[in-house]
Amino acid sequence: MSPPRAAAGDERAVVVRVSGPTAAVLADGEEVEARIVPRLPGGPPVAGDRVALRPGDPPAVVGIAPRATLLERGHGGDRRPRPLVANADLLIVVAAVTEPPLRPRLIDRYLVAAALGGLEAAVLVTKTDLPHDPAELEATLSPYGEAGYAILAGSTRDSGLVARVRELIGARTAILAGPSGVGKSSLTRALTGVERAVGAVSRKAGTGRHTTSDPRLIPLPGGGAVVDTAGVRTFHLPRLDRERLERGFPEIADAARDCRFRGCAHDGDAGCAVPGRVSAARLDSYRRMLHDMR
Ligand code: GDP
Ligand code: ZN
Repeated sequence: MSPPRAAAGDERAVVVRVSGPTAAVLADGEEVEARIVPRLPGGPPVAGDRVALRPGDPPAVVGIAPRATLLERGHGGDRRPRPLVANADLLIVVAAVTEPPLRPRLIDRYLVAAALGGLEAAVLVTKTDLPHDPAELEATLSPYGEAGYAILAGSTRDSGLVARVRELIGARTAILAGPSGVGKSSLTRALTGVERAVGAVSRKAGTGRHTTSDPRLIPLPGGGAVVDTAGVRTFHLPRLDRERLERGFPEIADAARDCRFRGCAHDGDAGCAVPGRVSAARLDSYRRMLHDMR
């Protein structure tokens, strides 16, 4: 993560959404549409960025403050890092217990991205009201608890789950991420009362409203904010090396302190201390990501 150069001015305005050359920016409690100046150092901005605004009609985004955290994904064949959300505190990885089936490896990818970007992470499993095997779910989730992640499970239609998510977020900014159909929009709606614009809105109607697949930051009543990433359809990790990968597997990094050799890949290496001390599924996931990188 290479933070962009600090902007000169006052960077109290927060980007809530970017669509092409324009950004919706929250300044003094009001949302304004701003133009992003071309060739912005470190730019273009993303949701969550604190930016300097130059007054005008429309106002212009002229600088981006250094980022405290940054969720990035890999773009293109060479998986170049591309910023997705800036300055969030928490990444809540949302997965459904079924419909769509739970994919632990995708959860692991998000957890790695959170660790690389400096975000805390939690795992949230939805649709537990649908028929499923509770013992199997428990077995799938317990490695995440052991690795130190907060785990929540329930139905997005249950106000109890929504209250627990609200409590987890508190005054922080939380990204809701995960595959399509797992309940991110339902949860965003329950937390904020805001409906996500679905599909294309006719420009002919002249409403000036446009939909976007880019993340959108929504302040929560009572403090904190959520970032809705429902339009983000795929998530690949940026290219990374073994050491950085290991940061996304804290329990492996922990056990690795007893490996005989520094730089042990925990992949059948002599004197490796990791197998047997961490979940087999998580170790398998780590090894697959390691092989993907090579
Ligand atoms: P998103 O694509 O992640 O934003 O998911 P949505 O919020 O659009 O939800 C996808 C579908 O799953 C919708 O039909 C929701 O009504 C439904 N859904 C969301 N959460 C739950 C849940 O906890 N239980 C059940 N049974 N259905 C849910
Ligand atoms: Zn090892």
